[in-house]
Amino acid sequence: MGIIEKMRLDGKKIFVTGGARGIGKSVAAAFAEAGADIAIVDVDIAEAKKTADELADAYGNRMLAIKADVTIPEEVHSMTEQVVGTFGRLDAAFCNAGICMNIPAEEMTFEQWKKVIDINLTGVFLTAQAAGRVMLRQGFGSIINTASMSAHIVNVPQPQCAYNASKAGVIQLTKSLAVEWAKRGVRVNSISPGYIGTELTLNSPSLKPLIEQWNDMAPMGRMGRPEELQSICVYLAGDTSTFTTGSDFVIDGAFTCF
Ligand code: NDP
Repeated sequence: MGIIEKMRLDGKKIFVTGGARGIGKSVAAAFAEAGADIAIVDVDIAEAKKTADELADAYGNRMLAIKADVTIPEEVHSMTEQVVGTFGRLDAAFCNAGICMNIPAEEMTFEQWKKVIDINLTGVFLTAQAAGRVMLRQGFGSIINTASMSAHIVNVPQPQCAYNASKAGVIQLTKSLAVEWAKRGVRVNSISPGYIGTELTLNSPSLKPLIEQWNDMAPMGRMGRPEELQSICVYLAGDTSTFTTGSDFVIDGAFTCF
């Protein structure tokens, strides 16, 4: 079997959190195109259903839409049960849901800090833990967590200390899980995208005005597109990455190089 064929995900069962739109939707589409059945998991169930229907029409795979808030352990648990109950197993999980808040540190309330950490870090822990429990029982599985270049640098000019700290936490969490589960068939990696054009950036009142400035700072002079994250995730979810675990993949058009 050739390398391209080996990279396909035919018959694999995958859940994607924050899958209704943005990076999650784009990566879910790539998983589906590569042959996988997908559960689109999101707090916005109407949008998740729309995405699941769209991908089912485009690729003909089995698609589920499941409402779950990644910060609520019971919802994450029942989402995972539903995925495994329907699909029979779980080959990969893309723990991707996240939010950003741009607030100066000295003005940030405890609730704002907690919300960002809860969704971006605790949410990734809860979904990776739920996926890991299934995968450890099976003896195989691949978990991909969404970190950010903000785990590596402090973005400017916007103040986002909670976001940056949460994403740095995602990388060390990823490495910790990778080491704990390495001998039991479960791999855990993260991606660290640079600025990507999604609702989170393009339609955020606080971030949208900064795009020109970011582009001036970017070696490539532009933001990334969600589809530019697809192939790395297909690689990590599949069977050609079996020696890849505990790694973080920075995909930022060289933004963090200087
Ligand atoms: P979007 O805001 O476009 O999509 C995020 C999705 O996650 C939304 O559908 C959102 O639903 C959902 N979501 C939010 N909170 C929860 C929750 N508690 N439980 C389940 N789902 C939730 O963001 P992106 O696609 O841009 O971002 C995806 C990930 O990529 C995030 O982790 C982000 O931090 C990371 N990232 C993004 C970059 C960028 O420049 N866009 C750069 C680097 C990393 P709703 O809107 O209804 O709340």
